[in-house]
Amino acid sequence: MTDTRSAADTRLKAAIVTVTPFQQNCTLVWDGKTRHGVVVDPGGDVPRIKSAIAQANVEIDAILLTHGHIDHAGGAAELREALGVEIAGPHVADKFLLDDLPNNGKRFGLTAQAVTPDRWLDEGDTVKIAGRPFAIFHCPGHSPGSVVYFSKEQRFALVGDVLFAGSIGRTDFPYGDHAALIDAIKRKLLPLGDDIAFVCGHGPTSTFGQERRTNPFLQG
Ligand SMILES: [Zn+2]
Ligand SMILES: [Zn+2]
Repeated sequence: MTDTRSAADTRLKAAIVTVTPFQQNCTLVWDGKTRHGVVVDPGGDVPRIKSAIAQANVEIDAILLTHGHIDHAGGAAELREALGVEIAGPHVADKFLLDDLPNNGKRFGLTAQAVTPDRWLDEGDTVKIAGRPFAIFHCPGHSPGSVVYFSKEQRFALVGDVLFAGSIGRTDFPYGDHAALIDAIKRKLLPLGDDIAFVCGHGPTSTFGQERRTNPFLQG
């Protein structure tokens, strides 16, 4: 586990636990004062996520999912049971992926339970993360139900596999839609501000400004 931000008092803290053979960035986000927070995308390796929660000394209020792929959602049901909290997200368009997690896991030699979130999310919804409002943007393309969590106050977003540092989410699935993905990034995310820092599903963090200027998929 590495601390990605050692923020001032009013800023939320975040820590990444890399999980599954896909090196997915399961992310803890919490308030340093109240020590309440959430787990975003517990894709697997649940014992390691639980020890990261203990190490950060955080009381988890909820589990949030950005989309239905196994590396993001494969450990969600197990962690929900262990923590006794609710799961919010993704958009209901990813229900078919969440229902198919056990079968999908077999293909990769992973054990995963199917999961039904307690709350589906949609464009314009708001969820509380450590007491702060995060706006929901529905950004299909990588998966039909991908959502992005955005805090205007914190200048921070959790984008899942929509956007990466220097890349974008894969769309070579039967349900992938490259044009929709590019449209969502350009129309919904980049206008939020160049200064917005984001944690993505794989690899290093970045900012929307850095990606707007240099990401090869977003030029032209
Ligand atoms: Zn994905
Ligand atoms: Zn992923």
